[in-house]
Amino acid sequence: MSTKALDSAVLVLNRHYLAVHMVSCRRAMILLYKEHAEVVQVSGTRYDSHGFAAWVKRSGGTYSEQLDERERTEDWIFTVTYPVRVPRIIRLLRYDRYTRRKVPMSRRTIFARDNYSCQYCGVRRPTAELTLDHVVPRFLGGRECWENVVTACSKCNHRKGMRSVEESGMRLLHTPRAPEMNPLLEHNLQDHRYESWRTFLS
Ligand SMILES: [Zn+2]
Repeated sequence: MSTKALDSAVLVLNRHYLAVHMVSCRRAMILLYKEHAEVVQVSGTRYDSHGFAAWVKRSGGTYSEQLDERERTEDWIFTVTYPVRVPRIIRLLRYDRYTRRKVPMSRRTIFARDNYSCQYCGVRRPTAELTLDHVVPRFLGGRECWENVVTACSKCNHRKGMRSVEESGMRLLHTPRAPEMNPLLEHNLQDHRYESWRTFLS
């Protein structure tokens, strides 16, 4: 089974088609299987809904000679009995509230907010080479919040050391702010496979 596919992001709509949050494909499949949600498929200006069984059927249903090709993409989940296409959007059938969750602050969301680039020198790096920097260090009373934590390359982080931005004589390229929308969600929009999300995020 492709773990990558199961970890891919699925946009969640409430009953009234308003985007409320984002879950992993793994979680989405459980919601679909339990009939708490349906798949929403966008084609042009219209969208269709499919329950779990219909979605499986639509996915092709059986293994075929095209499997090799499918395996090369992240877009399929390989269950014991049949391959299932990864859904991109699901709609909760009973949830009609509209409460956007507070964006969780984590390494992943901070890096995504900062576009995976150092906020001091602007260099863009893979996540493994990025670090988090407290604008005002914690021991000087700096808080663990969106406004005080930024992405830094290890070189800049080392250069700044235990000093505040002012003390280090360095400058932030942007003022760090709490994002209104989950930056991982915005990051996904740059991937053509998540194109259909735009319909519900504008
Ligand atoms: Zn840097």
